[in-house]
Amino acid sequence: MSAALTANLSQPKVESSILQLKGITKRYSGNLAAAVREVSFQLQQGDILGLLGPSGCGKTTLLRLIAGFEQAEAGCVWLNGQIIADQHRWTSPEQRRIGMVFQDFALFPHLTVANNVTFGLQQIRRLSLSQKRQRQTEVLSLVGLLGMEDRYPHELSGGQQQRVALARALAPQPQLILLDEPLSNLDVQVRLRLRQELRDILKTAGTTALFVTHDQEEALAIADQVAVMRNGGFEQIGTPEEIYQQPRSQFVAEFVTQANFLAAHRQGDTWQTEVGCFAATPTTGDVSFAGCTQAVVMIRQEDLLLHPDGDAAIVIRDRQFLGREYRYCLKTQSGQELHARSASLRPLPVGTTVNLSVIPENLKIFPQNSALPAQKAA
Ligand code: ADP
Repeated sequence: MSAALTANLSQPKVESSILQLKGITKRYSGNLAAAVREVSFQLQQGDILGLLGPSGCGKTTLLRLIAGFEQAEAGCVWLNGQIIADQHRWTSPEQRRIGMVFQDFALFPHLTVANNVTFGLQQIRRLSLSQKRQRQTEVLSLVGLLGMEDRYPHELSGGQQQRVALARALAPQPQLILLDEPLSNLDVQVRLRLRQELRDILKTAGTTALFVTHDQEEALAIADQVAVMRNGGFEQIGTPEEIYQQPRSQFVAEFVTQANFLAAHRQGDTWQTEVGCFAATPTTGDVSFAGCTQAVVMIRQEDLLLHPDGDAAIVIRDRQFLGREYRYCLKTQSGQELHARSASLRPLPVGTTVNLSVIPENLKIFPQNSALPAQKAA
């Protein structure tokens, strides 16, 4: 085999991916634990990846490594098929053609909307003044801010400022755009509306994007792929549906779903829990139960069905009206709290005693050795 062919075969497949990371590890000086640990993934052209995880799990560090603000101690980063960082090569942040959108918008307060947007175009010498103006109009139209060119940032709402930041990042037509908690500084109503707008804008622009969030709903709503991070590594990466429906660990399940987690022990062919027995069928994907006698059973709130029974031991302690549904807070005989959601028709009064049933195919069972203490977003 020729040397050239050998070299080709040993290269990872990068042709179709805009971004690829392989074995990226970063440890800050003085820290024993790695902030980012052996992270590998690929991002295809036009895809949006959401990095989801609790505070301190390494999301921002990973974003900064891709942007070129930090240097990894091991691993390799490819952008559009070119190595931009490894042990021997290093492309500076300005040369990476990566756009950034920050949590605090980072607009220039003394520049108008138009000048904030064209700021990033100044370095592109090949563009004439009229081409820059045209690009400015295109991106302001894309983010719905045409007509606001002469305003200053303090004359805009938080949502409008974030759209200016997005327009500024998109103006130079970057290969990739990185967004660090882009919606977290906005109030709830604006955040919910901008979620959809952000996705629409990125999709219309056809830009590949990676955004950081600690809000699971935001990640599932905006992203094509979600990576759940834990202690610097990827715990699971997949589509929002895969992450929600097939969580690989209790950690992922606790982070992305609203579910009840019940201690269970195995007896023959069943898992015994305080609220009933469940068949020990291998419905839990690739989780291995070999020799496992202790587990945690996950029951989503919407899968827990309530049946009033005067002799039952479980009582409805509280009830919240959520519009389309009620959320019931239940107390078991041992004092454990469970939650159930069901449609608003015929609500059950507080104090009702109930038996429970579940939709068995939606159950997830995690062997206890995978059930490390879960962390919630700070
Ligand atoms: P996240 O964005 O998920 O909150 P970070 O990437 O900011 O997480 O941090 C990951 C880990 O690295 C944390 O333990 C944090 O304390 C540590 N860390 C982050 N930045 C620095 C730094 N500049 N110097 C030392 N440690 C840092």
